[in-house]
Amino acid sequence: MDLIHPHSKRGVVDALRAASSAGTRVLIVGGRQHIDKGNVSEVDAELWTTLLDDRVAYDPAEMLCVVEAGMRIHDLTSMLAQGGQEWPVDAPGDATVGGVIASGAATIRQLRVGTMRDTIVEMEVVTGDGRLVKSGARTVKNVTGYDVHRLLTSSLGTLGAIVQVALKVRPLPKAARTLVAHEGGVELGRRLLDAVPLPAAVLAEPDRIVVRLEGWPEEIEEQTAAARSVTAVDETDAPFPEVSFPEATIVAEAAVTPSRLGALLAGVDRYRGIVGVGIAWLPFEDEGALTAFRACAAELGGIAPAIRGPGGLGDGAVPAPEVQRRIRAAMDPAGILAPGRAWSA
Ligand SMILES: Cc1cc2nc3c(=O)[nH]c(=O)nc-3n(C[C@H](O)[C@H](O)[C@H](O)COP(=O)(O)OP(=O)(O)OC[C@H]3O[C@@H](n4cnc5c(N)ncnc54)[C@H](O)[C@@H]3O)c2cc1C
Repeated sequence: MDLIHPHSKRGVVDALRAASSAGTRVLIVGGRQHIDKGNVSEVDAELWTTLLDDRVAYDPAEMLCVVEAGMRIHDLTSMLAQGGQEWPVDAPGDATVGGVIASGAATIRQLRVGTMRDTIVEMEVVTGDGRLVKSGARTVKNVTGYDVHRLLTSSLGTLGAIVQVALKVRPLPKAARTLVAHEGGVELGRRLLDAVPLPAAVLAEPDRIVVRLEGWPEEIEEQTAAARSVTAVDETDAPFPEVSFPEATIVAEAAVTPSRLGALLAGVDRYRGIVGVGIAWLPFEDEGALTAFRACAAELGGIAPAIRGPGGLGDGAVPAPEVQRRIRAAMDPAGILAPGRAWSA
């Protein structure tokens, strides 16, 4: 296996141009924190982005930062903290900005901070055949053309190498509190979500609910009282977010319409579900159990890709396969970028 470590965008352009000409199949690699997500792809080389980690521009007054895509989340977090701000994705510190975007991981605090995809206003991407393409703009008024940066979100390294992004950032909350209810289930989570105004997250487990509150101190007091009107809750100092099932060999990230989360998780004995968002993480002992769960998810119109261990994306129907095939052909004409990894292949 060849390892390619470009230091610059030019280096990525040269590497992918050469790989395309030679038919060398390439897996783009960031911090390797989510590298199991996607179907198995046989490749000849890995292109590591981690040396592409410069800060390009950051002015807190603009609430925007521009960084190279190999920057680690812990470096970005400490840079933004100096400006009293954050990029609220909750990914592990060793993950890279480009990897978080390409793996389209769910933001746990989505109820309060919105989706990760909407924070990306500009992106530079190197296509499979080595063209440097820019999409979006730092000033929204200047945006023209296709939203290629939205297409690249969740593309699992199959459409191009993300090399630089401009991100909308937000102020760090003035205060934060995590509450725990010692009864669980999606139904109780739903009642807490209905009662508490604008929580950052309501995470349901079979035997407890974790409610994350962020905002102004007075707001948090009000939210806490609202939660207590539904059920008994304690405050906890445990880190938020906690890692979901770190010991499990297979973990799936299921997604359904938010109103169907209860139906999806009925009868399941281990899960963590984001109420109001419709995403849940579940551990599995083996691929057979994952396959059986996927059949239930499919009946509810949902999916359950594995994010750790074997199992890939599953064999659900590919949405708009012809459109996906044409996008792939335009971005990676030689088909060298992680063949078979995404549903579109
Ligand atoms: C324990 C744990 C908890 C997590 N919790 C959260 C969470 O709460 N919220 C959240 O948002 N995420 C969470 N994640 C997921 C996290 O976002 C991923 O770790 C991150 O998305 C992957 O970044 P990475 O740099 O490690 O990418 P890698 O694992 O190296 O790569 C992931 C995918 O992206 C592709 N890729 C990587 N870099 C690029 C690039 N520059 N251009 C194009 N394609 C690229 C790869 O080919 C691969 O398909 C969690 C992960 C773990 C392990």
